[in-house]
Amino acid sequence: MNETEITANLRKIKSSLPERTRLIAVSKTKPVEMLQEAYDAGQRLFGENKAQEMRDKYEVLPKDIEWHLIGHLQTNKVKYIASFVRMIHSIDSLTLLQTVEKEGKKHDRTIDCLLQFHIATEETKFGLNLDEARALLESEEYKSMNHVRLCGVMGMATNTSDMGLVRSEFATLRGIFETIKKDYFADSDAFCELSMGMSHDYPIAVEEGATLVRVGSSIFGARNYVNA
Ligand SMILES: *Cc1c(COP(=O)(O)O)cnc(C)c1O
Repeated sequence: MNETEITANLRKIKSSLPERTRLIAVSKTKPVEMLQEAYDAGQRLFGENKAQEMRDKYEVLPKDIEWHLIGHLQTNKVKYIASFVRMIHSIDSLTLLQTVEKEGKKHDRTIDCLLQFHIATEETKFGLNLDEARALLESEEYKSMNHVRLCGVMGMATNTSDMGLVRSEFATLRGIFETIKKDYFADSDAFCELSMGMSHDYPIAVEEGATLVRVGSSIFGARNYVNA
């Protein structure tokens, strides 16, 4: 039997990852048939950047998929995914976290989240800086939450061919992870995730300690949307 292209891509990428690094297949804009193909090849972690698209795919695909929301999330969209999302990577404000808390409570579940940090030189990318994260973590609002669990940090490097710059940005994110772990989560085994690395830079992210890499086009092929 001929291996499909998606299966071959997955196998190649997975064989290059160390034990500690899990692969999220980023399937945004791709049809469910392609996700099913990846699923049939054994892939269980999928990443989407739009809440409604994730919800629509969740409804028709096998229920043991772990769904990771990786894109900027507006508070009014949390409700579409709160009942099933496995992890939200893009927490960039207390307000958003409060909304996740509220929706988690409604569904009587605890939702795993990552704090997104701005590590790139580009201005357009979302994310917190360390001071903003400290303010969030030290707020009474955060301390009273029972339906969110912070599990680590996420970031996107500058979109550049300068791999030295990319590496230093990933190293910065790892430093932020270690600082927050030490200052706020020293006793929490759950705070252990470092989500960084995409198709063009995940090997560097792995070398810099990534536990989750988010790979799309190297699995499913290029997307047609400029901004997707
Ligand atoms: C689209 C996207 C990815 C995957 O990008 P590829 O270059 O296709 O691998 C990873 N992370 C985020 C946040 C994304 O939006």
